[in-house]
Amino acid sequence: MLNIAIDGPAGAGKSTIAKMVAKDLNIIYVDTGSMYRAVALYLLRSGVDIHDEAAVSAACTGADITIAYENGSQQVYCNGENVTPFLREEETGKAASVTSAVPAVRAHLLQLQKNLAAENDCVMDGRDIGSVVLPGAKVKVYLTASSAERARRRFEELKAAGEAPDFDRIKEDIEKRDYQDMHREISPLIRAEDAVLIDSTDMTIPEVAARIEELCND
Ligand code: C5P
Repeated sequence: MLNIAIDGPAGAGKSTIAKMVAKDLNIIYVDTGSMYRAVALYLLRSGVDIHDEAAVSAACTGADITIAYENGSQQVYCNGENVTPFLREEETGKAASVTSAVPAVRAHLLQLQKNLAAENDCVMDGRDIGSVVLPGAKVKVYLTASSAERARRRFEELKAAGEAPDFDRIKEDIEKRDYQDMHREISPLIRAEDAVLIDSTDMTIPEVAARIEELCND
């Protein structure tokens, strides 16, 4: 199987680029962040205190997460409900960053992710794909960009969606999420030793995708 692992901090462009690579190579894109978001959404909806690790551990297994592809795009189901439309909200992302640090949450999703990669050629993105989920992936990329540039991209996205975003707050949120993801005890965001570092600060999306596709031919 051709497995491509892309890790990196929030807002580095992982999902946009992974989608482009998946389309070019005609393989599936697996977005593991959405799975963590779906578990967080389930916990929020269940009224679980996301800062109570024991409660999160006990409740998370009640979220039966599966994925399906509709018109080539990944849909996440939680206990049979397609929750994809609710996953991108800022609050869900922040909650996911908290609950994804709980070992039981990671254990709950790990096998699903491993199975998907064992059964399909895929490009999978997240925080621990090259280091923990797919240590044997053919291509591993650590994709990053400066926090100012990542905040700028998010700012432009929100503005285009008709919102009135606050740049400093976005940058602060991004830096806080990076800190949480990099400093947790289990599966922290790190660059795997054999991952190729790509800094997208001054690169276009097609340039980054082309670089990753080149790596697949090496
Ligand atoms: O990538 P995305 O912003 O959708 O991920 C949401 C959160 O899920 C991240 O901040 C991170 O804490 C967590 N996550 C993770 N491991 C992954 C993917 C996402 O811990 N493989």
